[in-house]
Amino acid sequence: MSARLYARYPFLEAARQAVGELGVDIETLIAEGAPAVDRGRKRVERALMAGRVDAEDPDEWRDEDELLSYPIARILVSLLDSGAAIDKYAAAEAKTAVERLQEDFAAGDDGLRSTTTARLDRETILDELGLSGTIRPAADHASREPAWFRVELGAYLRLAGDGDRWRLVDREVADGEVRIEREELFSLLGTAIRRRIADGLPFEGLTEGEGIVEPLESDLGELRRLLSERTAVGRIDFVNRALFPPCIENLLQKAEDGIELEAFESFTLMAFLTGIGMEPDEIVDFCAESSLDPEGIRYQTEYLTDDRGTQYPPPSCETLSAYGICHNEDDHWKTASHPLAYYQSRLEDREEELVDWRADTNAE
Ligand code: SF4
Repeated sequence: MSARLYARYPFLEAARQAVGELGVDIETLIAEGAPAVDRGRKRVERALMAGRVDAEDPDEWRDEDELLSYPIARILVSLLDSGAAIDKYAAAEAKTAVERLQEDFAAGDDGLRSTTTARLDRETILDELGLSGTIRPAADHASREPAWFRVELGAYLRLAGDGDRWRLVDREVADGEVRIEREELFSLLGTAIRRRIADGLPFEGLTEGEGIVEPLESDLGELRRLLSERTAVGRIDFVNRALFPPCIENLLQKAEDGIELEAFESFTLMAFLTGIGMEPDEIVDFCAESSLDPEGIRYQTEYLTDDRGTQYPPPSCETLSAYGICHNEDDHWKTASHPLAYYQSRLEDREEELVDWRADTNAE
């Protein structure tokens, strides 16, 4: 396996060994402020803000920095002391890994597998995740990736989601195996990778201001600032598009014009819609006529609320401005510093009777 491959899949056991073989000490890297530390912070930042971890400019970092940034990101996310942040981080790592697997498997389909050692094949990832023998192609297709797979019932129940599409009664089950489509295989792999990444987090024994943590204070401060954008807005449970702030309306409009949203843009939109009380299925319906696909919506919204029901908010006006999403139309910053606060104040100030979009839809 190559350094490039470990950089693309840093959660592999072989990648962990490769970090050891590099002979570098993570503590020293952190103390010296090596590039991997910067990349590690960006990794967490992108996970929290965009739900993915790949570098915005893939040529910016050396493979070694990419690989080493993974253990540093795990330290940083542990120090954030937030279960929701860990869930979101693990989901973002898994999402990026699955997209890379999709590329790699497709390249394998085209007979390109032998031309590079940076690609991962199906057998290797199944083996890595302890799933070889429990997931197998439904038929022998020689060198091509099969369209169907069979999954042992136990593994299926552990990895399948809660949605209706995974209901066992609607599945073909034979000899203790469940038949799934190729695309569903990626979904199961995503769950297994996410759990692998979340396993062992948060790290124990890290103390603020001491040892390895001390040189990370400014990176942590930056990440905490992003997290503290949890607003003081009370629970909102009312959906009316006429009250949306322009930043959100613009994103919605862009998606409805059929334009693909950037990761950060779709995260902002999903976090806002979740923040005003919408369930994933409602968001799917609400965005039916847009470039957003139902699967992506469900994936993104799943990690916006933690087990305790704490909502992961959209970024603040300041961050949206820094990312070029907010144009401060009508001088909104004077009214609120956060899209949810702005929406809530419009909700409270409204004079005319407005109907919740959900009541309207259910009445049709
Ligand atoms: S000021 Fe805030 S609420 Fe208004 S458009 Fe900008 S980001 Fe949205």
